[in-house]
Amino acid sequence: MKLYCIETGRLSANAYFITDGLSRNAVCIDCGEDVNAVRAAEEKYGFKVTAVLLTHGHFDHAGAAKDLQDGGAKIYISEKDAEKLQSDLNLGKYMGYTMKKLTPDFTFNDGDELIFGDLKIKAVGTAGHTSGSASFIAEDALFTGDTLFCGSWGRTDLGDGNFNDLISSVKKLFSLKGDYKVFPGHGERTTLQRERESNPISEFL
Ligand SMILES: [Zn+2]
Repeated sequence: MKLYCIETGRLSANAYFITDGLSRNAVCIDCGEDVNAVRAAEEKYGFKVTAVLLTHGHFDHAGAAKDLQDGGAKIYISEKDAEKLQSDLNLGKYMGYTMKKLTPDFTFNDGDELIFGDLKIKAVGTAGHTSGSASFIAEDALFTGDTLFCGSWGRTDLGDGNFNDLISSVKKLFSLKGDYKVFPGHGERTTLQRERESNPISEFL
């Protein structure tokens, strides 16, 4: 598995791309709000995004999804966050961004395994930042969206966020066996063990 990352949009969201290292097809985890940035990454790294997995439906992670779908990529989001792709719950309106509405191609639930060629990606339901937030596991990589950041965690005071749910979700991630490289929706990467030991959220767990 090969992993690429770009930082994109007005809120500096991380968009990740993974490939199996054999084909040119890439799975994008959170495409960000700017389709041109995704197209530039495709050009630079020589892959083509064929699937987009969204950790949640906020515009800064999902805003480019409609354009990518129109270009042939399949869009995946949790069943619970699917409606955010069609309503102001994507929060774009509050940040001066008009998000193009779309219907996802596929929805998933907690524990579902998604297969793309040689890539196996497991969805983990991590509600809290939004009601349908998800994290993804691919090999030793854990993509946490806006649930868990390096040294902090996602806001729960927006839209349908819920702090108690977020706490349960972080507990769930911390209880995964072993260590993972953690790739959050914003900011720098970290490891699960480092967050278990030093993330100040521990006082609420
Ligand atoms: Zn968000």
